[in-house]
Amino acid sequence: MFKAKYISNFILNYLAMFKGINAIEFSKKFANNEDCYKYLITIKWGNGYQCSKCGCTDSYKGRTYYYCRCKQCGYDESVTANTIFHGMKMPVLKAFHMVFRLTAKKKGMSTVELGTEVGVEQKTAWLFKRKVQAAMKKDSDDKLKGHVDIDEALVGDTLLQLAEAQKRRVPYW
Ligand SMILES: [Zn+2]
Repeated sequence: MFKAKYISNFILNYLAMFKGINAIEFSKKFANNEDCYKYLITIKWGNGYQCSKCGCTDSYKGRTYYYCRCKQCGYDESVTANTIFHGMKMPVLKAFHMVFRLTAKKKGMSTVELGTEVGVEQKTAWLFKRKVQAAMKKDSDDKLKGHVDIDEALVGDTLLQLAEAQKRRVPYW
């Protein structure tokens, strides 16, 4: 039976996008939800589509532009499936801006501040921040275990800073 390949290092790809650009450039690049979905499509399916249920590599258009429907099993998959943006209630644009802030700030940023900046409740910001941290931790663990076959260039300074912070046991965010 086909087993869906975990989209490893997805977060590293996000970080690659955020690396070296400032808030103004970021806001220009991601001005609306469509910009974000299109970016995710490039990361996830840019090198070819594969159904995460059955492994088939042929697809039809899905229910919207950011879905792909499998030709074999009919599964209509969102580009956000199996990512940190999976099943989110808030607009993807807000989530993108949160990831940007979480990864750009060298010193801590409270979830109150984070929520205020993008316009979500503190609880939402807190939950999402935990998701981002968990994903980053998973990526960095995978990397330490040597299970990663990604371009080194994708590992931005942010992860190195995170690793340093963990070593010194200081809060990163
Ligand atoms: Zn399928």
